[in-house]
Amino acid sequence: MNLTQAIKNEAYRLGFSLAGITTPEQPPHTSVYESWLRLGRQASMEYLSGERALAARRDPRLLLPECKSILALAVRYPDPKSVPPELAKSAGRVAAYAWGADYHLVLPDRLRALVAFIEARAGAPVPNRWYTDTGPLLERELAQRAGLGWIGKNTCLINPQEGSYFLLAEILLGIELDPDRPFPADRCGTCTRCIDACPTQCILPDRTLDAGRCISYLTIENKAENPPDLRGQTGNWVFGCDVCQTVCPWNKFAGARYDPAFAPRSGVPNPDLSVEIGLTPEEFNKKFRDSSVLRAKGRGYRRNVAVALGNAGRPEAIPALEQAAHDPEPLVREHAGWALGKLKRS
Ligand code: SF4
Repeated sequence: MNLTQAIKNEAYRLGFSLAGITTPEQPPHTSVYESWLRLGRQASMEYLSGERALAARRDPRLLLPECKSILALAVRYPDPKSVPPELAKSAGRVAAYAWGADYHLVLPDRLRALVAFIEARAGAPVPNRWYTDTGPLLERELAQRAGLGWIGKNTCLINPQEGSYFLLAEILLGIELDPDRPFPADRCGTCTRCIDACPTQCILPDRTLDAGRCISYLTIENKAENPPDLRGQTGNWVFGCDVCQTVCPWNKFAGARYDPAFAPRSGVPNPDLSVEIGLTPEEFNKKFRDSSVLRAKGRGYRRNVAVALGNAGRPEAIPALEQAAHDPEPLVREHAGWALGKLKRS
């Protein structure tokens, strides 16, 4: 077996569902990405437009000058529709990728193990750098070039057999491997289900997202107040959103298999909003200690919970919201006040 195939087999043994090889040439989507930034579609995520990050996205060899090959990897998380439906009406929703352990904690050990395997097979140290949503790489484009799938209108990587419920990772390697053929087709065709279903209309006709309207941005990356005109459209999402993927017909073929590290933990997919609104910072940090949800921080998470309570339209939430309207955290107070107003008007 040649080295490239041996590396892919080891990746599958370590739990990755897809593995492919590409080269470090300049990604053709760089111009689309830079024009997206010029239009301000990144909202407050200013770290995306730093000069060094832009340069590295144009040329991955700035991250590893010896880079000759890029190993693109994908690992499956659970199907968001596997959430128990009887709970979904009276609770919040957390995006499925965050139901289990934080991938930033799970995947590095596997990436290190894969590098160790490559070096053992190569019989010498191999220059390398690995990333899992942690560096300035156009990850989905690299995955497409490595043959893993196409980038859908919802901007997710879609594989025709496995769907789109993936986390991505890459290893830049100073070693020649056999590159895969880029995934050849865009299989979205005339479908517009994700565009039509997005609650905040954030998916744009040019196959990019207006991040400032995306529920994932609003509930995770945005650290400030959420625009009042969008709050009523975010439903019961308290961390991320799965809508544009759950409506995608390609996820019908995805199967139920997923990596056990991302298995849902008790109470995380459908957190009880009336409990979550009262979490102290310590309780939040303890509950989500090794979870991706920690990224929202306690105040952002409880901001989202307040909005979800307002959107749920349940008058029994009024006492908890009245208490939150006097919270020491201004962000929670403001959104609890908004939710109270909405409930009292309804
Ligand atoms: Fe493409 Fe339709 Fe899936 Fe959107 S829902 S990503 S348009 S196939």
